[in-house]
Amino acid sequence: MHEMSLCESILQVLEQQAEVQRYRKVKTVWLEIGALAGVEIEALRFSFDMVVLGSLAEHARLEIIEIPGQAWCLPCGCNVDVQQLYDVCPHCGSHQLQVNKGDHMRIKELEVE
Ligand SMILES: [Zn+2]
Repeated sequence: MHEMSLCESILQVLEQQAEVQRYRKVKTVWLEIGALAGVEIEALRFSFDMVVLGSLAEHARLEIIEIPGQAWCLPCGCNVDVQQLYDVCPHCGSHQLQVNKGDHMRIKELEVE
């Protein structure tokens, strides 16, 4: 399950930031997850609770902000909404789409003490 390794990298970031920003406890993590990032949100929540056990983020609340997918369609010359990676353009059916939004995951904000 790759959500588990995603959570491990999130925890690494939290621990690195703890040294820089000098906090001891993470209370809330706001996570942006793109619809095209290939992340299973339920699996991510489940993994997060396990990965943070005994860490500075134990009992931290995970707030997930879902970012819709968007791609540039070459034939249409405009941005279109896409639900999945490798979707076709909803207007012209073309595969010539360049995803430009919603294909990543990142930590948006932290509440710490
Ligand atoms: Zn199109």
